[in-house]
Amino acid sequence: MTHVFHRNPKQQLDFAVRGEGIRLYDQNNKGYIDASGGAAVSCLGHGHPDVIRAIKTQLDAVAYAHSSFFTTQVTEDLADFLAQRAPGDLDHVYFVSGGSEAVEAALKLARQYFVEIGQDTRRHFIARRQSYHGNTLGALAIGGNAWRRAPFLPLLVPAHHVAPCYPYRDQLAGETEEQYAERLAQELESKIQELGPENVAAFVAETVVGATAGALAPVKTYLQRIRQVCDRYGVLLILDEVMSGMGRTGHLFACAEDGIAPDILTIAKGLGAGYQPIGAMIASSKVYNAILAGSGFFQHGHTYMGHATASAAALAVQQVIERDHLLDNVLARGEQLRSELRDVFANHPNVGDVRGRGLFVGVEFVQDKASKATLDPSLKTHAKLKKQAMQNGLMMYPMGGTIDGVHGDHVLLAPPFICTPDDISEIVNTFAATV
Ligand code: PMP
Repeated sequence: MTHVFHRNPKQQLDFAVRGEGIRLYDQNNKGYIDASGGAAVSCLGHGHPDVIRAIKTQLDAVAYAHSSFFTTQVTEDLADFLAQRAPGDLDHVYFVSGGSEAVEAALKLARQYFVEIGQDTRRHFIARRQSYHGNTLGALAIGGNAWRRAPFLPLLVPAHHVAPCYPYRDQLAGETEEQYAERLAQELESKIQELGPENVAAFVAETVVGATAGALAPVKTYLQRIRQVCDRYGVLLILDEVMSGMGRTGHLFACAEDGIAPDILTIAKGLGAGYQPIGAMIASSKVYNAILAGSGFFQHGHTYMGHATASAAALAVQQVIERDHLLDNVLARGEQLRSELRDVFANHPNVGDVRGRGLFVGVEFVQDKASKATLDPSLKTHAKLKKQAMQNGLMMYPMGGTIDGVHGDHVLLAPPFICTPDDISEIVNTFAATV
């Protein structure tokens, strides 16, 4: 009997005993290719010596100093690193311990921003139906899956949902990408008008949708049109890059590829790449300065914010990615992964779509390519696939079922940035043998 309160108490888990490169090993020394980076986390793979050294050095100096008494040099350096590379005027980095905390901080910052500038009726958030933003109560309220929210209603944050940008399913025949983006922008505009712009704080979206939709990237002009609609109504734009950020798409910040910057951005997962738990919310100068000029104090905080060894791990991870030009590899290996998956599944009746950006790749399964009907609305396919893949020594991230208009079944592949061409082919071949 285990005394750990596992999420699924009925599931028998093996022990992760050792990690090396792109593989994890269990208690029987069986190796598993980490083709999903856990959940798009382990972008440097496992056991990276430079990251381990940086953590040990910081641990020897100081592991923890409470943020109301001290800052540390690594925390300052990490903030500089991120602010110098973040798009627009995203210059103020607020460190937390993970993705949900980053989203929670973003929601509270948006609310407080409007209080500071005397628009405190702006309390509503608009998000998208197929999305995941975390499991804390605020993040849960804006997430798109109604079934996740159901046991916890009523939630404290008033949230409303519009359609995600899902070209494979929702772009109409004969509709250009621009026309499709325009239609979605108009839906957002109608929702803001329906709620009254004076009541809307922010629109929240994942730049590239991760867990709920298998690396669903927006069409080219979508985020630009969304940015325009938000600006027209004085609504803040919050982009959640907890999964898609930190180089996963081949760009350090995914939205840079779309040519826009949000008012607030959230990151986590790849930031510390699993070596330490860390996330961040990055605020634009516009939002930050309003707090500074107002009460001068963000009404939020956590015990472990700006944690020294977590900062050291994240700084080392980001420096290795830059030093070794790994984002070039992400772009090249991502192209290879999609191309090999398309080849190997060309005649597979149930593979409807292979998509994504960089090493953030989704495969969507359907009953048949014409109807695009969900393969197995009962959620069984993805559980079965995961089990078979683990038997074959492959870790991948499946998600499935059609619930409340959320479409499945998907598998998310998010392998480490250090993958070689041979590693990618091995992932594709093992995946193909599993499906
Ligand atoms: N936002 C997105 C886009 C995510 O994918 C996740 C985690 N899957 C979260 C937020 C929540 O992050 P965490 O699990 O670290 O709290």
